[in-house]
Amino acid sequence: RIHSIFCRMANNERSFIMIKPDGVHRGLVGKIIQRFEERGYKLVALKQMTASKAHLEEHYIDLKDKPFFPSLINYMVSGPVVAMVWQGLDIVKQGRAMLGATNPLASAPGSIRGDYSIQTGRNICHGSDSVDSANREIAHWFKADEINDYNSPFINSWVYE
Ligand code: GDP
Ligand code: MG
Repeated sequence: RIHSIFCRMANNERSFIMIKPDGVHRGLVGKIIQRFEERGYKLVALKQMTASKAHLEEHYIDLKDKPFFPSLINYMVSGPVVAMVWQGLDIVKQGRAMLGATNPLASAPGSIRGDYSIQTGRNICHGSDSVDSANREIAHWFKADEINDYNSPFINSWVYE
């Protein structure tokens, strides 16, 4: 029983996953969501929005001194994104693996970027790189009442031991 309670807490890790404007324009929203659903992760928040420049500059604040920062922001404001929170065991690390490397040349085939993208500046998706970044990004993109903390007995019993 203690074991199962402990595991359930570990299974509540959350990551901020976002489909960038190129992913939306190219009609990849459903395919990307499907990968996380089929893997066994739980969708707890989702919205489409056209983010402001200021909102994106804050999201990518750690990259503000990079030479590609202005073009990154222009790319990200160019259209709507789909912002999501996915939950489950090791979702932050697993989400990064499912996305693939930042540069699609290094993204393994089978990953989202490895299957659908060619250049770093059009790499389709975002995923938090640590649990701390995930917490910061989730709070930046979602209000607390936009996150749905629901119990899923099927996932509890059949995705986890
Ligand atoms: P990520 O966590 O894998 O998304 O990579 P980073 O946090 O390092 O960078 C954020 C985003 O900035 C990437 O996903 C790319 O869209 C973009 N980016 C990163 N490095 C470069 C680069 O060298 N050139 C261009 N054009 N964009 C970049
Ligand atoms: Mg990053």
